[in-house]
Amino acid sequence: MKKLDQFNFKGKKVLIRVDFNVPQDNALRVTDKTRIQAAKPTIMKVLEDGGSVILLTHLGRPKGNKSDELSLRHIAGTVSDVLGIVVDVATDVVGEDAKAKAAALSPGNVLMLENMRFREEEEKGSKDFAEQLAALGDYYINDAFGTAHREHASTAVIAQFFDQDHKAFGYLMDKELAAIDKVLHSGEKPVLAILGGAKVSSKITIIDNILPAIDKLIIGGGMTYTFIKAQGGEVGDSICEEDKLDLALKILEEAKRQNVEVYLPTDVIAADDFNNGAKTQIVPVDKIPEGWQGLDIGPDSIQKFQQVISTANTILWNGPVGVFEFENFSKGTKAMGDAIDEVTKKGAFSLVGGGDSVAAVKQFGYEDKVSYVSTGGGAMLESLEGVKLPGVAAMEKS
Ligand code: AMP
Repeated sequence: MKKLDQFNFKGKKVLIRVDFNVPQDNALRVTDKTRIQAAKPTIMKVLEDGGSVILLTHLGRPKGNKSDELSLRHIAGTVSDVLGIVVDVATDVVGEDAKAKAAALSPGNVLMLENMRFREEEEKGSKDFAEQLAALGDYYINDAFGTAHREHASTAVIAQFFDQDHKAFGYLMDKELAAIDKVLHSGEKPVLAILGGAKVSSKITIIDNILPAIDKLIIGGGMTYTFIKAQGGEVGDSICEEDKLDLALKILEEAKRQNVEVYLPTDVIAADDFNNGAKTQIVPVDKIPEGWQGLDIGPDSIQKFQQVISTANTILWNGPVGVFEFENFSKGTKAMGDAIDEVTKKGAFSLVGGGDSVAAVKQFGYEDKVSYVSTGGGAMLESLEGVKLPGVAAMEKS
């Protein structure tokens, strides 16, 4: 596939699928511009070439119905501010207004079509609908990593109406795919994965898929206790998936078979209740008393994990190692962030992706200290699980 920089869009109309599914407050004001800022370089490339841009995105879940609340009118002001250009919004998705406004575009103009999901054909992946969208522009750029795991009309199906000389990934999409590739295929060894979060069951496919790519695996968070109990430890009232004990043992065996060193916590901060103000004590991970639950890793685990992190050259971090939402149980997760920061400064590549680890990294200010923070929760998780993303596969076909 050609890279975006190999194209010159002078005088051309370029459809760009972005992911502007941004959070809004009660007055429908955008509360986090990250996704809009992330797409800006791609949009500016087209405009600076002398082309015009037609933005395609969804917002929320209107499920095929028009809804005033989910109209892109409400986010257009923020998009205009971020781009420094007044962005026009069509009153429909691919109707008369969209067609007329797209036809009237001049170089340097930006038009946003209405919410893709106002049309039920979007999520159904309708070929007709995709073809109508495709007819509005000369080129198609997919920069929506956050929706690349969906086989929708504007994220995947549309790509078939453009040949390899008329479609490309945007810069954001390219960066996301490169980051995943670096961790799963071309990372400098030792490659370390730090997996946390609540449950083994939600991470099992990721573990299966990444084992061949990694040398070391740190397991933290709520997942820990299923592994500890499976090995005969006492986990008290800690979160534990009783029906996954065998699976936990199988994972450990498989890791051993593949020469992956697994590090589990040695001590934990146990609480007498699931709240920030609960009484706490530091106990060995396999001797948690009844009535107590492990909510964060302890000081000995922190030290050991930091040591492992300091020797890694490539790091994937998915999932917090404690209940980081409670200040009193966020120490372990912050300590992981500190250690990743240190080793990244020394030249290691660190990718944080998928779900709550991104929230933790943002909350504690590590966003600019790791090499890359993924913008796509579900898409990143599916990539780590080894799924070929439909939005990516569709672009690779000629
Ligand atoms: P996930 O979405 O699977 O990455 O899970 C993230 C959630 O796991 C966060 O909301 C954490 O609060 C939670 N978590 C982490 N450690 C624990 C723990 N020891 N006990 C219960 N929940 C935990």
